[in-house]
Amino acid sequence: MTPLRLAVVGAGVSGLSAARELVRASREEAVPARVTVFEVEGRVGGRVLSAELRGQRVDLGAESMLVRDPSTIETLRSLGLEEELVRPGTTSASIWSGRRLVPIPKGTSLGVPLHPLHPEVVRLLGPLGSLRAFLEPWLLGPTVTPDDPLGPFLVGRLGGMAVRRLVDPLLGGVYAGPAELLSVGAVAPHLLAALGRDRSLLRGLRRQPAPAGGAIGFISLRSGLQTLAEKLADSLEPSSLRLGTPVKGVWPGQSGQVRVEAGAGAEEFDGVVLALPAPSASELLQGLAPELSRQLRRQMYSNVATVTLAYPEAALDRRPPGSGFLVPRFPGRVVTACTFMDQKWPHLRRPGTLLLRASAGGHGDDWPLEVDDATLVTSVHTHLRRHLGLRQVPLEARVQRWAPALPQYRAGHLAWRDSVEAEVAALPHPVVLAGAAYHGVGMEACLRDGVRAAQALWQRLGSAVPMDTRGRAGDGHR
Ligand SMILES: Cc1cc2nc3c(=O)[nH]c(=O)nc-3n(C[C@H](O)[C@H](O)[C@H](O)COP(=O)(O)OP(=O)(O)OC[C@H]3O[C@@H](n4cnc5c(N)ncnc54)[C@H](O)[C@@H]3O)c2cc1C
Repeated sequence: MTPLRLAVVGAGVSGLSAARELVRASREEAVPARVTVFEVEGRVGGRVLSAELRGQRVDLGAESMLVRDPSTIETLRSLGLEEELVRPGTTSASIWSGRRLVPIPKGTSLGVPLHPLHPEVVRLLGPLGSLRAFLEPWLLGPTVTPDDPLGPFLVGRLGGMAVRRLVDPLLGGVYAGPAELLSVGAVAPHLLAALGRDRSLLRGLRRQPAPAGGAIGFISLRSGLQTLAEKLADSLEPSSLRLGTPVKGVWPGQSGQVRVEAGAGAEEFDGVVLALPAPSASELLQGLAPELSRQLRRQMYSNVATVTLAYPEAALDRRPPGSGFLVPRFPGRVVTACTFMDQKWPHLRRPGTLLLRASAGGHGDDWPLEVDDATLVTSVHTHLRRHLGLRQVPLEARVQRWAPALPQYRAGHLAWRDSVEAEVAALPHPVVLAGAAYHGVGMEACLRDGVRAAQALWQRLGSAVPMDTRGRAGDGHR
């Protein structure tokens, strides 16, 4: 039986997860397949990158994984990562009020304060802002359809202050994008569910049932999240990983195959997974699927930088509580968020050192990409000094720029995704898409999306081969 030749382009979490699933399906169904993974960088992981800072392995990209699905823990176990799993020492964060750090009030749902007259909400929103939000059950406000922008809907319901001071910074922490752009259904479907229960958003949210099974919570890995990507890569044949090999295009090949132009040559494959940011997938598909390529180009991304800093512990008189803080969009904002790395992750704690990680940039705010490292570190330090009262300069810093960083699930994202999926399904060639651009930006969603894409490709290859030419009765593959 000739082995199927399958290609995965992109060795981020989505691509590696897809490759692993293809290998699994091939073994389980005893259908020989050779999977090749192409990656432009000299390493695996994409937006997941761990590096040394003062002898500690810290994450410069994704640093924690919110696990909602028990099967994610199973996947980590099957990769031999159980011993590596760590949980945060604290997950309570604060918001910069303009003058001080105020703990994010308990009882908020993606920043929507369920009890707007709680003293900590009043400290953040001021008496008028809190009162405005409190009146929502009486004033009600605009209704919303699933793909509408979140910002105007919430401003109409709760007032601008609640959105600027609470919702926007929390969303910014996940998407590096503003509430006024993002699609309600794509980023906050639970708000739609709340409105299905009650005309008042606040009453509906208060009556929200706990999620079935409950979230397992945040986790990370002792040696950094890049170990997850490395373990996924280890589950492939070493020769199947082509690092430092950019794919330049995918084209119609012979007999329904796909021609992949990679590095200095080109090869034919029976099926291809493009696990790339949407603009990169768009570029590669220009020749094979011009309409799909055009649609993929519409997906916008934010760019961000992370600056991880080691300070002498004596730089602070007293450590602030919690895992870090978020900064609303004040004029002149430099730091958008800061994680107290060695407070959030106790395994990173070392006597005498303080580890902070700041984020800068975001949607429409590319300044961190335009300045040199020294300027970026100095600006970040100056602002952290203001937020935290640091009295000493950092001992060491690591700068990492991410461009593109995070897809923006703008209003209309759900319709965009449907039309992209319809185009993919109608392609005459077996090419599928995976990655953060489509079904969720978090690592768990990316792992799942890789599996989904691999299964879609496998199924498609199976049904494309006539019954009498299949290798085994019922296996669906040649
Ligand atoms: C700063 C930052 C912090 C984050 N924090 C968290 C967090 O704490 N928790 C969380 O769950 N998520 C977090 N995320 C989001 C999460 O990390 C990403 O959404 C996820 O890792 C994306 O995985 P991916 O495989 O879809 O894409 P990517 O990681 O972008 O992988 C795509 C890969 O394709 C490669 N590639 C591109 N073009 C080509 C080409 N032409 N040929 C070959 N290869 C190519 C790229 O080099 C890359 O390796 C964060 C993201 C960023 C940027």
